[in-house]
Amino acid sequence: MSLSLIAKSIKPSPTLALNEKFAILKEKGDPVIHLGGGEPKTRVPMEAIMATVAHVNTGEVRYAPADGIPALKQAVIRYTEEFYDRKVTPQNIIASGGAKQALIVALMATLNPQEEVIFPAPYWVSYADMARLIGAIPVPALPEDGTFYPRLKDIEDRVGSYTKAVIINSPNNPTGAMYSEEFISDVVQFCEKKDIWLIMDDIYHRLIFDGRKIINPLKYAKKQDENSKLIIVNGVSKQYAMTGFRIGWAVGNKKVIAAMSNIQGHQTSGPSVLLQKAAVGALNGIQSSVESLRVTLENNRNVMMGLLNSFEGVKVTKPDGTFYCFADFSAYNKSSNALSAFLIDKVQVLTVPGVEFGLEGYLRLSYCGTIKDIQDGIERMKWALDPNSPNELYIGDRKLVRDWS
Ligand code: PMP
Repeated sequence: MSLSLIAKSIKPSPTLALNEKFAILKEKGDPVIHLGGGEPKTRVPMEAIMATVAHVNTGEVRYAPADGIPALKQAVIRYTEEFYDRKVTPQNIIASGGAKQALIVALMATLNPQEEVIFPAPYWVSYADMARLIGAIPVPALPEDGTFYPRLKDIEDRVGSYTKAVIINSPNNPTGAMYSEEFISDVVQFCEKKDIWLIMDDIYHRLIFDGRKIINPLKYAKKQDENSKLIIVNGVSKQYAMTGFRIGWAVGNKKVIAAMSNIQGHQTSGPSVLLQKAAVGALNGIQSSVESLRVTLENNRNVMMGLLNSFEGVKVTKPDGTFYCFADFSAYNKSSNALSAFLIDKVQVLTVPGVEFGLEGYLRLSYCGTIKDIQDGIERMKWALDPNSPNELYIGDRKLVRDWS
């Protein structure tokens, strides 16, 4: 079939594919455990629900402006003041269909075909495919020292005449690593010096552990004016457990935001006004749900670390934030795709293969579910992988028998 080159260069999102797999197995009544998920399970803030219901009750749900409703822009202005210590105007803000759309529209507004965007590896699966979608070239930068914490040199070494942008995601999906203040400050200053765009994907910035403080990249920007090439992306999906609402935003200079709004206007128009109202409700409402989610995730992280640290053969770096950890399972199988498929097949535990994030031999495990899922999930994985395991495992009243060595 004569599909376009772009269509042929893109892979399906592995995390969305896993969600579908989970739904199918669950529907069949299989006792499947999802350790591959990317969404908190807590309830959406009440203010978000009330704001949506109030608007739908008016019976008039119309198009929203391509760049977002004024009330959401006001809420983002307040958010930017609180977390980034910066006063911005409505023209510095675009609301999009999730942080995902804000990111791709930012890339479309800043990169030409064949130009390059650099991001540290392991990286969130969509960066590479988003770059390919617009005909640009993804350039992953795996830290040379073998850690999940890049240094400026890792970025610097890959910068060339085609480099147009850098994306930084900290704390990071899939590793949970929160990059040091020194690294963030170095990258901000380096991109300014080189006059390249810097896109900060801050979607997890409040979900951090062990008393860490949120890092504000704008603090290190010398260009504080409309010439700044720093774009901040954020949203309600993770911090307010509102993944299904699909609201994110970007803050940047007026010209780039206007260009992004033009692109988005032709793509999808503005996100649904109902969902933007919900985001306003969450952003302006009582904030205790964010802290309680953060505390829950920190506790879940501790439980998962305890279990993985006693999992012989598995190497793991303790995450500083998010709800993911990225564990080295190469002692069991060098192919993360094969290992992930094996775990679904034998013990019905869903994990995301590390190769999707640019590092083979690893699995991404999520701890955004229940403690029971974490405990049962890791127990099943141990049973499946440890050759000294007893021959049988009971899942409820189902008996699994090892027919592999
Ligand atoms: N950036 C990162 C690093 C993510 O992990 C995700 C979601 N998995 C997104 C952006 C997209 O978020 P949203 O749901 O707001 O589109």
